[in-house]
Amino acid sequence: MPELPEVETVRNSLKEIILNQTIRSISINYNKIIKNVSEENFISSLVGQTFLDIDRHGKYLIFHLNDYYLISHLRMEGKYLIKNEEEINKHEHIIFTFDDFNMRYHDTRKFGTMHLYQKNINIFDELPLKNVGYEPFDNRLTIDNLYNKFQKMKKPIKTTLLDQKIIAGLGNIYADEVLYSTRINPLTQTNKLSREDVEKILNASRKVLKKAISLGGTTIRSFVSSHDISGRFQNELLIHTKKTCPNCRKEVAKIYVGSRGTYYCPDCQPLR
Ligand SMILES: [Zn+2]
Repeated sequence: MPELPEVETVRNSLKEIILNQTIRSISINYNKIIKNVSEENFISSLVGQTFLDIDRHGKYLIFHLNDYYLISHLRMEGKYLIKNEEEINKHEHIIFTFDDFNMRYHDTRKFGTMHLYQKNINIFDELPLKNVGYEPFDNRLTIDNLYNKFQKMKKPIKTTLLDQKIIAGLGNIYADEVLYSTRINPLTQTNKLSREDVEKILNASRKVLKKAISLGGTTIRSFVSSHDISGRFQNELLIHTKKTCPNCRKEVAKIYVGSRGTYYCPDCQPLR
């Protein structure tokens, strides 16, 4: 699944290709990707609009057009492909055609979403962005603020780190890496963590995500960012998908926490 660093890679690579391109036509083969407007409204609003910028908030891409914001989440398998005349395959659900090429939203699982808003609307007050918290890099996400939230939560810390309302942008891979680097057991009840633990988690989140962004993210299983750039962060993973702990050389444990495959070292990350 693309996580924040992968989405950042997609954003940067798409920016090089689609900025200043005007949408000449749109064809939609699976309209359930579009969440808040009808297929007809989506097409009539966007044809003639030019891509002016692309932002990211957590794992959401925010495309800026002349009069609209298009908010896209890739979920499990979504990707944007740049193509020319090639035949459209069954996984290409929404095709934006420009003068010389087209951009196709490809999603084998069909879990991705798109929301369209006029620019006079504050998109951070609307779905889906109103449910997304601050990123670890955001100054508004402070240790005290996070610690206070953690105090009210009885879930395992692994589950809390995946909750995008609490911290935006940490997915399954990076949550495992953050917990390993802080030596915190993924099953630790969130409200049992000290203020010092919270500080360590926040610092580790920044460090892990920064490094992953600089390496273009991680490519695990089928995720490929737009025009097939593969992330190199998989070489830097210390615990996620590993067999042996790089610190103590003992066997890494794989468990499921809230149905998400979770890797940790029982020796280095004992349950306190
Ligand atoms: Zn270990």
